[in-house]
Amino acid sequence: MGQAAPRYDLLLVGTGFASTFFLREFLRRSGPRARVLVLERGERFTHAEYLERRGELDRNAAETVTIRPGEKPWGFFLGFGGGSNCWWANTPRMIPADFEIRSRFGVGQDWPIGYADLEPYYCEVEDALRISGPGDHALCPRSRPYPEAPHVMSDPDRVLQRAYPGEFFAMPSARARTATAHRPACCGNGTCQTCPIDAKYTVLNEATDLYADPRVTLRLGATVDAVDFEGGRATGVAFRQGGREERARGDLIALGANAIFNAHILLRSGLPLPALGRGLVEQVGTYAVAYLRGVNNFQGSTSRCGHGYMLHRDADRSRRAAGLILTHNTMDVSGLRMTRGKWRQILGLTVVYEDLRDEANRVDLDPANPERPLLIHPRRSAYADRGINNVERDLGEVLSGLPVESFEVSRVPKPSEVHIIGTTVMGTDPATSVVDRNLVCHGTQNLLALGSGAFPTAAPANPTLTLSALTLWAADRVLPGPRLVPA
Ligand SMILES: Cc1cc2nc3c(=O)[nH]c(=O)nc-3n(C[C@H](O)[C@H](O)[C@H](O)COP(=O)(O)OP(=O)(O)OC[C@H]3O[C@@H](n4cnc5c(N)ncnc54)[C@H](O)[C@@H]3O)c2cc1C
Repeated sequence: MGQAAPRYDLLLVGTGFASTFFLREFLRRSGPRARVLVLERGERFTHAEYLERRGELDRNAAETVTIRPGEKPWGFFLGFGGGSNCWWANTPRMIPADFEIRSRFGVGQDWPIGYADLEPYYCEVEDALRISGPGDHALCPRSRPYPEAPHVMSDPDRVLQRAYPGEFFAMPSARARTATAHRPACCGNGTCQTCPIDAKYTVLNEATDLYADPRVTLRLGATVDAVDFEGGRATGVAFRQGGREERARGDLIALGANAIFNAHILLRSGLPLPALGRGLVEQVGTYAVAYLRGVNNFQGSTSRCGHGYMLHRDADRSRRAAGLILTHNTMDVSGLRMTRGKWRQILGLTVVYEDLRDEANRVDLDPANPERPLLIHPRRSAYADRGINNVERDLGEVLSGLPVESFEVSRVPKPSEVHIIGTTVMGTDPATSVVDRNLVCHGTQNLLALGSGAFPTAAPANPTLTLSALTLWAADRVLPGPRLVPA
């Protein structure tokens, strides 16, 4: 007779943001005898190894999915810490209207939870990530201040803030404003994906202790293929490590493998939910460069010091996608201005537009190789197109608030915003959604799909702060023991 699969209180898949926040909450509430198995398909790299090998690791990750010729790419990192290794560390909140675009503007879908529900959890994540952010963000009411003061703005940011009071603010960021116990302060060199001094939050530099807890068994290089079910309950997972197929049993199973791989695992498990994998979406962004008159750039203390909501106004939102404006305190888009005496009179900008879920865009099983997700994304919404197609005119109006000689907008949108959203969408109806508002898969009581796959919309704000807050919200509702935020 074969050996019975080992049993754990929690089986956790992945070691990115979602898994790390869920693990934190599970361990905080559990006694010394609790047993957790964490299965991570990638390896653990030191910061130095990551810097050296990033190109190769990115290529390896891209080779794990199938994309049809001509369709858009998606960005993610496979390895201990997931996307925290390569993220840029911009952490704006979604604004209250972003959760209610159907009822306020008649487009997209409302979220089954609102800004007020998530607000205390936003604060918890901001504290854990030591976010530096503004004290005056009128669009995102706060119950407590950011743990760190805002980064220093550039001079163009200050002019924009004066021109657009209540709409332009310092960019919240997990690039350390002041040194933490594990990270030096950001030096503003503008290569955040591969931060050379390890100043941005990563799971590796701030949360490794969780995975070293004696209650946790971490298995690296262990790829989860599917979840096992018995009588409507998830009972365990099937995984591969070092060429061997294994199984583990668990009372609670949480998938934190991101919106591509969570959907892929659940599709391979045969979870009978018609919405599963559907609605793959992300924002669409474009670059612009403004040639300034008499204002120098690059005095800020980090790469992105400002963000503005001037293309995010309620009055326009039933017609076209909202756009979030990010200002660059670095030369990555603009370079220096090639005019004697005006070298620094230049400002790079990104405008990031929201998009809507569309059933035609989806994660599926690659028929040629079921071990690979097939990412199908033939189109973005007409709503997003109406935003991005008018960016030149709209941005022209916004930039009238700055002394600008001229500006130019990139003709082609960025290929990807490197965010992955919408494939295990939240809702109440199993016919149209995959998880409930607590991220529990419909038809199961003990299987969670964490992360931005649950988002019903792709608001302009970068998603990671929100998906982390949503994880804590779910943990407070699903796990027994003392809540983080009292009911
Ligand atoms: C270049 C870049 C820049 C970014 N910048 C920002 C930013 O500035 N702000 C922002 O908000 N977001 C940013 N993002 C997005 C951010 O990285 C993601 O939103 C975030 O990492 C998602 O967190 P997650 O925990 O859901 O998944 P991930 O961080 O993707 O973690 C998933 C984990 O699961 C593991 N895994 C996958 N499949 C399996 C399997 N079958 N079995 C076992 N393990 C598995 C992976 O190896 C990984 O460790 C950026 C992304 C990229 C690529």
